[in-house]
This record gives sequence, structure tokens and C-alpha cells, in this order.
Amino acid sequence: RDRAQNFTFQTEVNRMMKLIINSLYRNKEIFLRELISNGSDALDKIRLLSLTDRDVLESNPDLSIRIKAEPERRLLHIIDSGLGMTRADLVNNLGTIAKSGTADFLSKMQDTEKSSGQDMNDMIGQFGVGFYSAFLVADKVTVVSKHNDDKQHIWESDANSFSVAEDPRGNTLGRGTHITLHLKEEAADYLQADTIRALVKKYSQFINFPIHLWASRVVTVEEPDDDEAADAADADDDDDAQVEDAKEEKTEKKKTEKTVWDWELMNDNKPIWTRKPSEVTDDEYTQFYKSLTKDDSPPLAKAHFVAEGEVTFRALLFVPRVQPADSFNRYGTKTDHIKLYVRRVFITDEFNDLMPNYLAFIQGIVDSDDLPLNVSRETLQQHKLIKIIKKKLVRKALDMLKKIPDDEYEHFWKEYSTNIKLGVMEDPSNRSRLAKLLRFHSSKVEGMTFLQDYVARMKPNQNHIYYIAGSSRAEVERSPFAERLVRRGYEVLYLTEAVDEYCLSSLPEYDGKKFQNIAKEIFDLEESAGEKERAAAERAEMEPLCAWLGRVLGAWVTRAAVSRRLQRSPAALAATAFGWTGNMERLALANAH
Ligand code: ADP
Ligand code: MG
Repeated sequence: RDRAQNFTFQTEVNRMMKLIINSLYRNKEIFLRELISNGSDALDKIRLLSLTDRDVLESNPDLSIRIKAEPERRLLHIIDSGLGMTRADLVNNLGTIAKSGTADFLSKMQDTEKSSGQDMNDMIGQFGVGFYSAFLVADKVTVVSKHNDDKQHIWESDANSFSVAEDPRGNTLGRGTHITLHLKEEAADYLQADTIRALVKKYSQFINFPIHLWASRVVTVEEPDDDEAADAADADDDDDAQVEDAKEEKTEKKKTEKTVWDWELMNDNKPIWTRKPSEVTDDEYTQFYKSLTKDDSPPLAKAHFVAEGEVTFRALLFVPRVQPADSFNRYGTKTDHIKLYVRRVFITDEFNDLMPNYLAFIQGIVDSDDLPLNVSRETLQQHKLIKIIKKKLVRKALDMLKKIPDDEYEHFWKEYSTNIKLGVMEDPSNRSRLAKLLRFHSSKVEGMTFLQDYVARMKPNQNHIYYIAGSSRAEVERSPFAERLVRRGYEVLYLTEAVDEYCLSSLPEYDGKKFQNIAKEIFDLEESAGEKERAAAERAEMEPLCAWLGRVLGAWVTRAAVSRRLQRSPAALAATAFGWTGNMERLALANAH
């Protein structure tokens, strides 16, 4: 038996723990969610390994999470039969923070710390605070872990430093991790069965492994007899069922009340996406969404469906109400938020291949029976069906967005308009679907309009969708290019976001109508025969002026010409058909600086 070896925590861990303890003191209860979620992750890992090597389960065939309270000693045990940790894992995983984003997170948190406590809780909630949240409720934490590749070890810490030693009892777990929290006095409530049940229901009801609680219940039996009592308890794990002494003799018929201790199942571990959509309530979807994302608000939209055809899969997709603030900084690096399951077995959330960048904000899960289970993740990622799944997922996601009701669409558009516009530019195969989601300001409406409504309002002789881009609605409304069109009753779209003009340049048409950027050179403004004649006469008359202007401004302009588009302004500077508009030049300059 080796002596316990002592370690100090990595600096980041100390910072993290301080932060957690200082900011989450009102939200201590999340410790249980975090520890259960770690147990579930470890179970996912061993189950994944077992797909290619059945033997890994032999050390402990049961896959579950068990919770047991010892009120007299103020101990709370959380036990999983997951992957377990080797000695090195214990030192590394519970002594350092391996994740790369953590340093950024920590510094951001320290800025937020100075602002409001609510922001703080939101941020922490979204990140998931992990194992160290145990110290919110415990002054000492003991972790006993058995990994298939190592002996059983004991990790122990009082939050200041930690020790690791080989377990003198040998292998008692078979495989898995047993966490013991030595609860602080004020955290004694977490020893109550009702408190634990409520927390599991609130945060962990959608965990895909059974979560059991060692709990008692009172049963009435007719013939007091230990064997019968055990049967009456309907124990699902007979080995562990224990029957305490009879409490009291109740009636002359020898009915007796007995307290039976047993592992009580606390969650319904049938995955919600495998249920029929008609049998899942909105509230259940919302609860599932919250446990999936750690978001506090309900989702803005959801879609639950079974796709059939080349590949069969079930999926559940959600649109979060708020796009994470750093989404665009990371644009194109970490992409999707889709968890992939094969036949109910969690495979990965790291393919980043199931949604394109512009839809990376969509959260959800995909579960297919058609993908192979017994291959490596790399092989699976290359599987031809993955591409087909992605294609269908994108279609369904766009359908879901199309169905967002008007009163919610406003909010959606504020949050995600840039994503949709990037989609128009990046995803040619879904361009027309995406175009249906676009909204712009326009000369005919106060708010914004869909292209569909623009087309419905087009004048009978109008062939083009007119638009002009600038930095604000007020600026483009004053543009000389729009003057005459608007006066003659044509509708002009006002593009006021930086990405808008790029977006429409990559969209050739909508509903058969071509787009016309009115800041560009002469275009066909459908005029009557009389007007055309007058225009020709004016052009002839102004010929010498145009020639003179061409000479004087020769270095600056391609040519000078008569325009029929102006109403009040004497002249305007237009771009050539394939040249940059003033707005594009403005954006290019802004980017260059
Ligand atoms: P995260 O779960 O986000 O990785 P945590 O702080 O919750 O971060 O856990 C840190 C690491 O410790 C995990 O990534 C995992 O490697 C290890 N770990 C924690 N709990 C367990 C457990 N019950 N079984 C196996 N490994 C665990
Ligand atoms: Mg965790």
C-alpha cells in the first residue's frame, strides 16, 4: 500500500473554485446536477467503448447512478458505474482544468463579477461549473474511483489541496466512481430524500441512465414474515433490499407496517425524443431543453420529428431565445450544438458536421438506427449517411424557423438576422428557403417586410425588386437614387446592415423577380412610349454637357450620362453594373481600418 501523495491545485482551479463559491452561494443546489452529469458522461464513455469491446463491461455490467444519504454522519454519496478514473486521471481531471476556453471564461467572469450577480449566474449556468461545485455544499470531498486499466484509488480534498492514494480495501467498485460529500452543517437539507428527489426532477430527469435513491417506504403486510415483506417491496434489486424491524402491530388481522429500504428509481430514463410528439407536453419539451442547454429561458422554437427515406432518424431541435454573445467571434471554429446518438447510445457532440456554421445556434439531438455502432468515431464521421442526415436536418431547421409566429419573429430576427444572411451567402442549395426568412426595411412599411410581401405589392408593370444600401434608414431615405422611384409608387428596400448588400448580391432572384440595386448605373425603369421619346430628346440636348463633364472629371468617373431617376437632385454618383457602390466602398474602407 502506498502512502497518500499530496498535491496542490493548478492556479486556474483555485480561481475557479473561488469564483464558484463566491458567485453561486445562492444557487448551491446545482452541485447535484453537475455530479450526476459527470456520472452520466462517464457512463456514456464506457457504453461507447463497449460497442467495440464488449469485455469492458465485465468489471461491472450495471450502468446506473446511485445516490445514498447518511444523515448521522452528514455524508452524501453519488456512485456511478461509468468509465472510472485511473490514478493519473484523478490527478489531472480533478486537479487541473484541461479545457482551453477556461482561462477566457475566468477573466470574463471576473469582469462580470463587478456588474450584476444575475449576469454572473446566467454565465456560470451556461458553462456548467463542473466538479468543483461540490465544494459549494461540502467542506471535504472524497472520490474513490476504479478504472479498468488501474487499481482503485482514493482522491480527497478540503478545497485547499488534495491527496491521492491507492485504496487499501482493494477493488470494491468493480468499475466506476464513488463520490462522498462531507456536507457542511448548513447543507444538511441535501440529506433529505424529498430534497434529493426534487433536485433530480428539476435538473436531471432527462439523464439517459437510471438514477436510484436509497430510500425507505412504509408497506403494509398481512403475515409479518421477512421474506414476504421483501416480495411486497417489489424490489428491483433484491440483493440490496433490506427490511427493518416491524414498526408496530396495527390490527388484530396481523397487518403490520414495515419500513423497507430499497433503491428507488427517480427518473424516467426513456429518452424524450423516442416518444411520440403528440404525447410530449410543451412543458416537458421546455424542461428537456433547459436540461440540455442549461438555458434558463424556454426555447424560441422547437421541432421534433422522425425523418424517413434514405436514412431513418429522430431529431429534436431548438432555437435558443438568445444567441450566445461570442458566437461570431468563434464563427467557423466550433460549430454545431447537435448531439449524435445511435440507437439511443450517445456517440458525440463533437462532429461539428451536422449543422452548417450559420445554423450553429441550433441546439438539439439526432438519433439514428441506421448508423453502425461498432466502428470508430472517425469512421462514423466519414459515413455517407452523415451527409444525408445533415442535409435533412438543415431543411427541417429552416422549416422550423419559417414556422415561428409573427409575434415571435420580430425577436428571432433581432437575434439571428445575421446568421440567415450569412446562410444566403454560404449555402447555395438552400438559398431560396433562406430568402423566405429575410426581412428588410422598405419605403412602403414602417417596420420590416418579407420579400414575399414586397412581391405581392409590386406594381403590375414592375419586373425588379429595388433596393438601396446604406448605414441607416434615414440615410437611404434621403438618397437621390430613390427619389423618383418612390415618388412614382415603386417600393424600395432599405438595406441598413453591413452584410445586407453582400447578401442580396448573392441572391439572383426571388419568386422569379430579379433584384436591382438602384445605386448602380442606368437600369430599365419601365416607362411609357411618350416618356421614352422625351428621354431621347433630353439625352440629345444634354450630349455636349455630358461630353464636357466626361472631359473635366475624366480621372474620376467612367462616364457622365443623363438619368431619368432623379427628381429633386441635380446629379448623383452611380456605380457601374459590376462596380462597387458607395456603400460597398464605405464598408471596405471601414474593414481596412
Ligand atoms: P466536465 O464535466 O465539463 O469535463 P467537470 O469539472 O465536471 O468538467 O469534470 C472534470 C473531469 O473530471 C471530467 O471531464 C472527467 O474527466 C472527470 N470526472 C469527473 N467526474 C467523473 C466521474 N464521475 N467519472 C469519471 N470521470 C469523472
Ligand atoms: Mg461535468
